[in-house]
Amino acid sequence: MAEYIERNEVLIRIKPDEYYHSNEVKEILEDTPAADVAPAVHGMWEYIGTDKKGHVYRCSHCAGRIGLDYETAYCPNCGAKMDGGCGDGDGEIGGSAWRDLTRDR
Ligand SMILES: [Zn+2]
Repeated sequence: MAEYIERNEVLIRIKPDEYYHSNEVKEILEDTPAADVAPAVHGMWEYIGTDKKGHVYRCSHCAGRIGLDYETAYCPNCGAKMDGGCGDGDGEIGGSAWRDLTRDR
């Protein structure tokens, strides 16, 4: 599994006006603790039709459904960032990407 480090943590360990041998740089990087990060998940809202309350969309990542009077840039079910990720959406709603699944493609 990939590990990530915070830039500021490395900069704290490097002293200004000091020269480092490549082995010392490697040691600094190895001694810097891994940051607590999770990979970003991306998705988009997929328009799947209407019900008596209005338009219904689902998350392309987890298939969680919402009415989109509730425009959100993140899926409330799985936390996916609704920025499209793959760039084949129809547009944006309130800063989030979406596509219409009711149309023929
Ligand atoms: Zn989701």
